[in-house]
Amino acid sequence: METGEQMIEVEALWELIDEMVVPSEACDVPVTDALGTITAADVVGPVDMPPFDHSAMDGYALADSGLEPCTIVHEVAAGNVDAGVIHRGQAVRIFTGVPLPQGTHCVVRQEDCLVDGNVVRLGEDAEVSNGTHLRRRGELLKKGAVVLPSGTDITAGAIALLTSCGITKVPALSQPVACHISTGSELVEAGGVLGAGQIYDSNGPMMQALLDARCTRLVRQRVPDVASELHSAVAGFTGDLLLISGGSGPGDHDHTGRALRDAGYTIHASRINSRPGRPLIFATRGHQVAFGLPGNPLSHWVCFHAFVTRALARFEGRDIPALVNAHLTEQLPSGGDGRRTWTPARRQYRDGMLYVVPLGWQHSGDLTPLASADALLMNRQDPATHLFPTFIL
Ligand code: AMP
Ligand code: MG
Repeated sequence: METGEQMIEVEALWELIDEMVVPSEACDVPVTDALGTITAADVVGPVDMPPFDHSAMDGYALADSGLEPCTIVHEVAAGNVDAGVIHRGQAVRIFTGVPLPQGTHCVVRQEDCLVDGNVVRLGEDAEVSNGTHLRRRGELLKKGAVVLPSGTDITAGAIALLTSCGITKVPALSQPVACHISTGSELVEAGGVLGAGQIYDSNGPMMQALLDARCTRLVRQRVPDVASELHSAVAGFTGDLLLISGGSGPGDHDHTGRALRDAGYTIHASRINSRPGRPLIFATRGHQVAFGLPGNPLSHWVCFHAFVTRALARFEGRDIPALVNAHLTEQLPSGGDGRRTWTPARRQYRDGMLYVVPLGWQHSGDLTPLASADALLMNRQDPATHLFPTFIL
């Protein structure tokens, strides 16, 4: 059933998104391409980490000789295969990360040693108890242990950990294949020359940057306000997430709703009690999800953060974006027409508490505040705490 015509609340759209967007399939992703994905199963380590006993310091490996002077018998450097053997009264010159000679009791830091020819004398502060400055094979992770549990966000640090264990592929939820279509006969691609009545397409590059920052790949297209052209672009879309910029209202040249319907999409919402962002279409065709986003750049940006990120989180198996409570540095302009109003904002931390500076905007085409916004606040003050729900971007 289509619920498209009546105005719905922001929360109702969130519920529709949660219900309609189905997480992507799991697949094996090369670790080098996995940044920003979520593990779809526990990842188990195939080796001990670290893989061999080694020194934690540059210094001298000693057998159990107390504080007696020792004779330097050889040196082990990074990459040496055979670290040799060490006996009482002997020392082996050694460096951080280097395998330990057999029989090593401890490593003494070079700054605690006095070297005279091939004899090492230990300073009074030298630590010589068993195991000092040694790192043992498997002390971080044993072979077969879970390196990353299912549901972990693959960050740069996670990539380093996986790689250090020799893991090259990881089961992850595949990221949605997204396409952004900028509609509008007035639009010119950046770098082109503007004719009379033309403007640059800023929504396309903005969406590209927003999705790049989330490691989600995007294909961009631009079509004029010609119903047949938009229809073929929409009908031919084979990816997961279709974002159409502009033409989402009821105007004579607004073709987005019709193009989606004609291409077999079901429209679940087309008017949201949101300011900016009223003419926003949410539609699905099987597992495919489409948003018709208002072309006005501020609306486009707000709708991305308030709604599209939620759909992305569902596709990617992440937690839905959370609103956090923030103090305001200054009063919001009062008024409005009863719609849920969003304000771009800038974060500040004072005494460990989150404050946001509201960045005023003139109208839904006003993109001047966006360059310095890193938060999006909702004008719904909690009467008890006086705090405002805010998305951290
Ligand atoms: P629309 O949603 O198509 O009615 O467009 C509303 C306003 O946003 C108009 O002033 C458009 O020129 C402008 N607009 C639409 N698409 C873009 C875009 N891709 N980049 C910048 N402005 C746009
Ligand atoms: Mg338009």
